[in-house]
Amino acid sequence: MDSPKLALLKQTLADNDASLTKPRIMVFELLDRPEPQTLSSLVRASKGHLDRASLYRTINLFEDLGIINRINTGFKYKLELSDRFNRHHHHLTCISCGRIINTEDSQFEDLIMKQADRHHFVLRDHQLEIQGICQNCTQA
Ligand SMILES: [Zn+2]
Ligand SMILES: [Zn+2]
Repeated sequence: MDSPKLALLKQTLADNDASLTKPRIMVFELLDRPEPQTLSSLVRASKGHLDRASLYRTINLFEDLGIINRINTGFKYKLELSDRFNRHHHHLTCISCGRIINTEDSQFEDLIMKQADRHHFVLRDHQLEIQGICQNCTQA
């Protein structure tokens, strides 16, 4: 409860008149890992402490408040904590096995800022999703 991320979660919820409840802490902690998670993997990881209904409610709230991002991978999606909680990065998603590789490069960011500047556009947020086939799958 004393981690800076949890404090930020509490603040974000409080700013939106929501409180830090046990299920919310649990969902947040389940999402606080390097790999983006599917809904089923969250249900599995909660080991019976979360039912689908409360998971969906919490996920919807977290999305509305910008606490998490949804990564669309074809007809499915995965969830991860937003840039407010984790370092900004992009994804390389394998369309064959669904693996997501995190990638970051300051040149990407410079380029995006340049594009925004050129259009006198004030940048808030961006997501860049790259799809392809990972090394494991090309070798198989
Ligand atoms: Zn793959
Ligand atoms: Zn970026």
